[in-house]
Amino acid sequence: MNIIFLGAPGAGKGTQARKVSSQFGMMQLSTGDMLRDASMSDTSLGRKISTMIGSGELVTDGIVVALIEEKLKAGHKGGFIFDGFPRTISQAIALDGLLENNGSTLKAVIDIRIDNEVLIGRITGRYTCLDCGEVYHESTRPVATNKFCEACGSKNLNKRADDNESSLRTRLTEHSYKTAPLIEYYFNKEILHSVDGLKSIDAINKDINKILMK
Ligand code: AMP
Repeated sequence: MNIIFLGAPGAGKGTQARKVSSQFGMMQLSTGDMLRDASMSDTSLGRKISTMIGSGELVTDGIVVALIEEKLKAGHKGGFIFDGFPRTISQAIALDGLLENNGSTLKAVIDIRIDNEVLIGRITGRYTCLDCGEVYHESTRPVATNKFCEACGSKNLNKRADDNESSLRTRLTEHSYKTAPLIEYYFNKEILHSVDGLKSIDAINKDINKILMK
């Protein structure tokens, strides 16, 4: 089974992808995490990626598709959860081709819907475990800075460099112009499902499980 999580930054894609990954034995492929890793390397490509992420712009399709292609080639018995990929129509077309070459298909595309107003509060108060990606929030899920990540035990809890208002504005614009058209793309393929991203994490997870059990 392969699935995609769509949704604006802060909608909860990563949180739900981690849950579904452990519930269904699937591999989570977060292009944001892969690109943040790649941005740490002291090469011209690493620096270019770091600048693009910091500004909130999308990284070029070629770089992202190459990262996904490498993971798909390695394969995973339980299938893949695409978290933050595809983000453009051209990435979606590339993914169709890669899956076809592997003889696999997409079971569902799940759009986590949420208002922009709510996203700004979520993102600016968010901090993330830089080792496993678990997400915390100053008011809704606080963890003192000297504490450990509840999920992996790491002390590496920090604010993401792009979780500030200026980058977020660019990320939301990129989302509306380049990523939102994917909703129609997958609606036309009859695999699009929507869930209400304002519900609690567990309630959203139940809604997703219902879709995946069908
Ligand atoms: P995320 O962790 O999914 O919020 O992604 C953080 C940043 O990584 C985005 O704002 C983009 O700069 C970059 N990024 C992640 N996934 C993609 C993608 N599929 N295509 C282009 N850029 C991406």
